[in-house]
Amino acid sequence: DPPAEVPVGDIVAYVMDVCRERFRDRGVGLTVTQPEPSPVLLCREVQVAQVLLNLLQNAFDAVQEQPGERQVRLEVAEADGMVRIAVTDNGPGVPDALRNRIMEPFFTTKPPGKGTGLGLSLSRGIADEHGGKLEYQDVAVGSRFVLTLPMFSNGS
Ligand code: ADP
Ligand code: MG
Repeated sequence: DPPAEVPVGDIVAYVMDVCRERFRDRGVGLTVTQPEPSPVLLCREVQVAQVLLNLLQNAFDAVQEQPGERQVRLEVAEADGMVRIAVTDNGPGVPDALRNRIMEPFFTTKPPGKGTGLGLSLSRGIADEHGGKLEYQDVAVGSRFVLTLPMFSNGS
């Protein structure tokens, strides 16, 4: 998986194909918003897809116990030469006391067999290797993780 020029929309389409059915079967809403034309990354696309799949899996896990409507959003935006891909869920959020620890390797709050605690640390590593970053963001309800990567071109 060498670095290549890839429209973000291609990666988003791939991860949606992987996730759509599983979300629908469990009644979890999954929506995507992204700019047109799609901004282009110079990236290892399998790795970037893996980051998004990790974030979507975490969001899916987080909303499972939620009463009422369960919702996950993936939003792509461009700003200042960077592409921001945000995954937001309306689950319980990350308690303040854990926010500094969730990106550590092997940190998990999931039962044995359900989580390795490696998803976020590997994802942060992939973001760093691409000259980008992965951050947890405070939101009023739920959790938001934002993957920021350098934009190669705006796709037009
Ligand atoms: P794992 O999913 O195997 O537990 P991760 O590295 O992906 O490992 O996540 C580490 C921990 O961060 C999770 O166990 C959970 O406590 C917390 N976390 C990650 N994503 C979310 C989310 N969307 N909502 C609430 N907590 C989250
Ligand atoms: Mg995970």
